[in-house]
Amino acid sequence: MRANLMQPHLHTSTLADGREILYFDEVARPHTETDTRPLTPRSLEDTGEVRYDALHDEWIAVAAHRGNRTYLPPADQCPLCPSQPGRPSEIPASEYDVVVFENRFPSLGPAVGIVPPSQGWGSSSTGFGRCEVVAFTSEHEGSFGTLSVDRAHTVLQALAQRTKALSALPGIKQVFPFENRGKDIGVTLPHPHGQIYAYPYVTPRAQSMGLAALKHFDQTGTVLLADLLRAESESGERVIAQGEHFTAFVPFAARWPLEVQVVPHRQVADLSELSEAEMAELAPMYLDLLRRFDAIYDSPTPYISAWHQAPLDARLRPVSRLNLQITSPRRAADKLKFLAGSEAAMGAFISDTTPENIAQALRSAGDRLAATPANSPTHQEQSA
Ligand SMILES: [Zn+2]
Repeated sequence: MRANLMQPHLHTSTLADGREILYFDEVARPHTETDTRPLTPRSLEDTGEVRYDALHDEWIAVAAHRGNRTYLPPADQCPLCPSQPGRPSEIPASEYDVVVFENRFPSLGPAVGIVPPSQGWGSSSTGFGRCEVVAFTSEHEGSFGTLSVDRAHTVLQALAQRTKALSALPGIKQVFPFENRGKDIGVTLPHPHGQIYAYPYVTPRAQSMGLAALKHFDQTGTVLLADLLRAESESGERVIAQGEHFTAFVPFAARWPLEVQVVPHRQVADLSELSEAEMAELAPMYLDLLRRFDAIYDSPTPYISAWHQAPLDARLRPVSRLNLQITSPRRAADKLKFLAGSEAAMGAFISDTTPENIAQALRSAGDRLAATPANSPTHQEQSA
């Protein structure tokens, strides 16, 4: 059995202001280091608020303190690089593999609790929840796509562990791991990292996808994403990669210039329900897709990688299935799609290309990668 099929060594500690930090190490490390920074203890009083937007029947998080967060610091002040003598960062360890810690500037939390059902116009509540940062590597340069298969696997295991732990916190209704890559789409730290939001409500997108799945189930008795997966597999027209446990395809009605969806073949609600065999297949497939995104043009492509997990809602959870959506607004080497009037104001997407063209671009990018074996995840797996 390869080392990457083992569970990472988990070590939990606290930062100087009381925030939790968790190390997911591929090799055991003692982690005797402490956070020496003179930080003011964090207070639950610092939690923001959520306001009910009655016009849309949605909650809006109001986190004014986030305006002060770190923005594109120089590399020698990176908060995600390991600490060095005289230069403490957010991560006290001098060595780590994957680290998760509570965000210093959270959109939700640090207090957790139950947001009561809205009482209509003017309702507000404490902005309960939790926001975490996930450092994928101690290396400042690179991206998720340049990680080894072993490391990608460790990151996925960390996301699965966090999904399970955060789902058990009071009032949490949805756990959303994601990565924004590229400063063109608002990334404020270049060090390869992702985030996890644990919301005290079902987000608007999960709500609308959940209701669509519920309607389909009421009409057919089957899970919507399972039926879509079958249709995409049978047609094959937009399939990018297919394994024993997962299929990646461009959705029939893709809305972004680049978009791919990865769906497990089995009905699983979230990452924590994946088997070892499923995790082992997902890691290289995910790397392959990210590398294809970067191989389409001659410079890295900004993207949002979004893990859609079933909400913790008794009605929606049984009909919702884990899926990964990777999207990019890049529509040409030097052009991004901006969400303008129709999309931003009306939520009505208009695609400037066809999903079949997107599939062709991602397949060609895969062919180019295969022609340079050093780039392929399979090659790295063999050499690891
Ligand atoms: Zn760094």
